[in-house]
Amino acid sequence: MITVNENLCKGCNLCTEFCPQKVYKESKKLDKKGIHVPAPVDEEKCKKCGLCALMCPDQAIKVEEDEDEE
Ligand code: SF4
Ligand code: SF4
Repeated sequence: MITVNENLCKGCNLCTEFCPQKVYKESKKLDKKGIHVPAPVDEEKCKKCGLCALMCPDQAIKVEEDEDEE
């Protein structure tokens, strides 16, 4: 599961650019700082490589293994 912490994200879009699976898309939603927080729209394509979390300069992304597939 991918979570983007809106309070930490500054909308630099590094995650969007570097994800090899193109999981992220800039969301239409503006947060309270007036930035577009990226949304993991194609999360099922995510390979859990952790690159997005590594690239994020603000540690806004958490990538967790889905242990309990339902
Ligand atoms: S963990 Fe890897 S595949 Fe998944 S969203 Fe991040 S960069 Fe993309
Ligand atoms: S890399 Fe981090 S700060 Fe930049 S847009 Fe992605 S989540 Fe936000």
